[in-house]
Amino acid sequence: MFFDSILNSSSVSILLPLILVAVGFLAGYFFQKQKSHVSTLVREAKLKAEQIQKLEKASDDLSKYTRALSSKEFELVNANRRLRELENAKSKFVSVTTHQLRTPLAGIKWTFNMLQTGQLGPITSDQKEFIDKGVESTQKMIQIVNDLLHINLSEEGIADALRFEPVDISALIEEVAAEFFSPAGSKKINLSVQKPAGALPPIMADRGKIKMALENLVDNAIKYTPTAGQVTVVISDKNLNSANAGLEIMVRDSGIGIAEKDKSKIFQKFFRSAGAVSAEPDGSGLGLYIVKDIVEKHAGSVWFESEINKGTTFHLTLPLKQK
Ligand code: ADP
Repeated sequence: MFFDSILNSSSVSILLPLILVAVGFLAGYFFQKQKSHVSTLVREAKLKAEQIQKLEKASDDLSKYTRALSSKEFELVNANRRLRELENAKSKFVSVTTHQLRTPLAGIKWTFNMLQTGQLGPITSDQKEFIDKGVESTQKMIQIVNDLLHINLSEEGIADALRFEPVDISALIEEVAAEFFSPAGSKKINLSVQKPAGALPPIMADRGKIKMALENLVDNAIKYTPTAGQVTVVISDKNLNSANAGLEIMVRDSGIGIAEKDKSKIFQKFFRSAGAVSAEPDGSGLGLYIVKDIVEKHAGSVWFESEINKGTTFHLTLPLKQK
């Protein structure tokens, strides 16, 4: 009844416009909403298009860089090949020169030895002094040539082929010491060898290479010890009965010593301390690098202890057998 009266009454004329307004309002609202949704989609599409453009540009840049990189790589490969060629030429040059120098040097040494030992007739003490100097210089030259040859071969990977044989280390050390009595004597340095009383077993080693390592250590000990000092080569058998049986050799001097700041660089190729340069201007900085290389190729080890102005001891261990 109530609703009938409402529907039938004049209130319809009031409600209808209201409904129309509400419908209009709702349609407007949905239209606005749809419009803002569409504009969001347009914005997003624009953003995506910009991103695609950026990606296309990045891809272009990337291909440019890739092309530049491969041309650089090509240049690098060429430069490397050229470097290898130069390296080979240098190695060949050093190898030929050092080999060529060895023969005449051996001849000079042999002649000096004949003169020194009086085999070519008696010599005066003045003459002996000069001949001793000649022997010393020849010995130095031989050592430099041998060092260069070793480094050259080592860098080519050839020196890996060591010739192992049983070596009487005690006799070898006496031989090395004999070579240095003259240079030690001219600096009034007392050079001595200390070894255990009993006979020592032979060690498996490359005799020539171990001799070279010992020569470098004894040479340094004499070079870096002032006049009237002491250089001792000690052979120790304390490790003979250990699991890793071997001999230890020490080269001890009372020389200039090695400063703390230099200790980590001592085995580096070409390193020379300031003290060493002023004590002995002529030096290559190659000796200890070679010593380490040789000893490590024998599965041994080398180290030192030193105190500035008190002296230095180089230790070198060599196993009896090679695995
Ligand atoms: P070089 O003797 O030609 O300089 P080495 O490689 O034999 O080259 O030695 C490198 C450096 O190690 C030397 O320049 C020196 O500074 C230091 N050195 C080596 N042996 C001794 C030593 N017995 N006493 C003091 N310094 C040493």
